[in-house]
Amino acid sequence: ALDYVSALLVYTKGESLMEERTIYDVVIIGSGPGGMTAALYTSRANLKTLILEKGVPGGELLNTSDVENYPGFPTISGPELADNMYKGAMQFGAEYAYGHVSKIELEGDLKVITAGKKTYYAYAVVIATGSYHRKLEVPGEEEYAGRGVSYCAVCDGAFFKDKKIFVIGGGDSAVEEGTYLTQFGKSVTIVHRRDQLRAQKVLQDRAFANEKIDFLWNSVVEEFVGDGSKITGVRVKDVNTGEVTTHDADGVFIYVGLLPVSDPFKDLNITDAEGWIVTNEQMETSIPGIFAVGDVRQKTLRQITTAVGDGGQAGHMVYNYVEEVKEKLAK
Ligand code: FAD
Ligand code: NAP
Repeated sequence: ALDYVSALLVYTKGESLMEERTIYDVVIIGSGPGGMTAALYTSRANLKTLILEKGVPGGELLNTSDVENYPGFPTISGPELADNMYKGAMQFGAEYAYGHVSKIELEGDLKVITAGKKTYYAYAVVIATGSYHRKLEVPGEEEYAGRGVSYCAVCDGAFFKDKKIFVIGGGDSAVEEGTYLTQFGKSVTIVHRRDQLRAQKVLQDRAFANEKIDFLWNSVVEEFVGDGSKITGVRVKDVNTGEVTTHDADGVFIYVGLLPVSDPFKDLNITDAEGWIVTNEQMETSIPGIFAVGDVRQKTLRQITTAVGDGGQAGHMVYNYVEEVKEKLAK
């Protein structure tokens, strides 16, 4: 009888050996909070689990300063939480490999996953690729990226000690990271297109109480200006009056929302018009055996707690799915 759990299948055609395949029960794409939780659940349920990650474990946690809304840790730094999650995810034998996944194809009951020059086979796949920062798409943004324009306060904040910092956006990221940046900058100016912030009230209150933070309301960035080697200012338009003003700036942090990392899966037709992957409450996509969790999913609240919740749910459903497939194949 075939041993599907150890899962080394040798495919033969006539006498000639065609290929050797290691078949995983589940391949998890991405090792942010969603992917790591799914891996914890599937490996603890004894499923042969592989995590493929194009960066390092932790996902967006590595770009997050302090996390105050993850239960069990009154306050913890994003990287420390990532490290804890990684250790937890790996303790039951999950495998971890570098891999930038570019596509998933279907082959009978198998999912065929391409990452660079490597091909992986699995009965189930969990997509946990998260999201990336939307660009403003104004002149100067690309030219001065890495030369004063940044999308990551934790990575680049320390370069702007005693400097004039601008933050663009009015959501949780802009307001929380703007507050974080006050430990470095002489001043932090938050530029928002409306006269009300979208951020959680607790973050708003903290920013309003911070003497280093001021706001440019009803304002949109027209251009990032510079001297050819680095940024020197921000040209801003008041959307009510049409008045355009230029402000001196040494650094700009852009937090104007997120877009899904779902390009590798577009041929599967599992996304909505904006590219967010559509699932039901069990994290199942419309393709049996393909699940999605965390920020890449079409959902209303993109946070660590919800990514972790998705990961647990998907892990449980993957177990049921893989058992069914193996029973079918064993008949
Ligand atoms: P991610 O954490 O984005 O992880 C996705 C992983 O997939 C990454 O490691 C990426 O490298 C990998 N990947 C992507 N594409 C591929 C591919 N093709 N092949 C292989 N690997 C791939 N939430 C909170 O609850 N509290 C906070 O305080 C908080 N602060 C935040 C601060 C900022 C600045 C931002 C942007 C977000 C913050 N969030 C916070 C939101 C939180 O970080 C996310 O909701 C959470 O990280 C989502 O987890 P995820 O696993 O879905 O995706
Ligand atoms: P977001 O909630 O989508 O907010 C994006 C902000 O940018 C909004 O204020 C929006 O303005 C503005 N914006 C969008 N497009 C713009 C444009 N073209 N020009 C100017 N402004 C523009 O994104 P986010 O703040 O990155 O948060 C993403 C997710 O991560 C959320 O689910 C959030 O809860 C989570 N997060 C959580 C925490 C935390 O819990 N502490 C911290 C950070 C992030 P409008 O308001 O006018 O739409």
